[in-house]
Amino acid sequence: MVVGASHAGAQLVTSLRQGGWSGEIVLVGDEPVLPYQRPPLSKAYLAGKLGLTELALRSEDFYLKQDIKRVTATVEEIDRSASELVLGTGERLAYDALALCTGARPRRLPATGADLDGVHYLRRSSDVEGIREDAIPGRNAVIVGGGYIGLETAASLHALGLHVTVLEAADRVLERVTAPEVSAFFTRIHQSEGVDVRTNALVEALVGDSRVREVVLASGDSVVADLVIVGIGIEPTTELAEKAGLVVDDGILIDAHARTSDPSIVAAGDCTSQDMPRYGRRIRLESVPSAVEQAKVAAATICGKDKKIAALPWFWSDQYDLKLKIAGLNTGYDDIILNGDPTRDRDFTCYYLRGGELLAADCVNRPRDFVTSKRMIAQGDRVDPGALEQAVESRGTS
Ligand code: FAD
Repeated sequence: MVVGASHAGAQLVTSLRQGGWSGEIVLVGDEPVLPYQRPPLSKAYLAGKLGLTELALRSEDFYLKQDIKRVTATVEEIDRSASELVLGTGERLAYDALALCTGARPRRLPATGADLDGVHYLRRSSDVEGIREDAIPGRNAVIVGGGYIGLETAASLHALGLHVTVLEAADRVLERVTAPEVSAFFTRIHQSEGVDVRTNALVEALVGDSRVREVVLASGDSVVADLVIVGIGIEPTTELAEKAGLVVDDGILIDAHARTSDPSIVAAGDCTSQDMPRYGRRIRLESVPSAVEQAKVAAATICGKDKKIAALPWFWSDQYDLKLKIAGLNTGYDDIILNGDPTRDRDFTCYYLRGGELLAADCVNRPRDFVTSKRMIAQGDRVDPGALEQAVESRGTS
């Protein structure tokens, strides 16, 4: 039994069959559509370039052929003593093995007026349908949050012909995840496209009668808004696990085999938190590659195989013509080396180092740098910053 039918859940049921699980497989999810790819929601799907059918991770036919039963329902409770799930309808489903892939939900905006019409969040395909209805060319869209989702949404709404303002509370966009040089690059690109990017812009209230009209900042400034999209991060969906007595601390705790504190229950995806020896701490990742990797390991564990979560975290973001690919996590970096000039170019790589070890690389329109960096970081290569700098310089002049 797999709870949550998205990247992790859909991969897990697939890997279970591939791994030789011959018993019944049931995928329970509360979204009434085929499991779909979430990343395009803020990109090609919002921009109207792809339909929901094209986002499906697998066809209806695939689940039928693999004898995987899909159930649309909310799981309200896990009855561990009876090995049963309790659905919102009151129905109970018995399980031999259980996987939790409940993902995450958007953090709500702590401001008055956040429940007005025209205020949107972006996690599900149904959210995008709501945004699209409001996204009429010429209107003023305000994005709260200058993270990847906020910036991708800004690029997509700008392409649809809206006037877009991004409000970021910190003193730069992408503050949590990139070096100041990379933040400055994305600010420059968005501004050159005509997006109004404002930093140190803390939202205090959304104002309107029934529909949002204006966003008021702590500074006293205000911004006209016909629609607002809030992208201020996510929170893992862990209530089910908590109620069932599993250990949860900013995500359902899993070990390298994707086992929760109850070794007979596995978990995968955005809802989990795991020890990552490479980084010497526990981390909750929010990315498709990680959800897929954990799901494969969780399926192997259920099938009695010895597989561990080991892949290097990586992530991507698409904005305008820019394809950013990030290898590794840069937390704790003490030095950066730039290959290319982010103040001028539309392609460059920012390498992050700690004590000479390559930790991570942000590669903008540089697919080859991404592949090389990923390999080097995974191998734990130490880098002589001087040598890397020289290599970068000689490549730049070749
Ligand atoms: P989720 O996708 O959150 O799915 C969990 C599912 O479980 C949901 O359908 C939820 O409704 C369901 N569920 C939860 N509780 C219950 C319950 N009790 N009963 C039944 N069903 C339940 N990642 C990247 O790597 N690259 C990107 O470019 C990128 N872009 C993104 C853009 C957007 C707009 C968003 C929203 C996310 C993006 N991500 C990106 C992140 C990526 O989508 C997530 O990491 C991924 O979806 C995680 O998959 P998951 O299966 O763990 O969880």
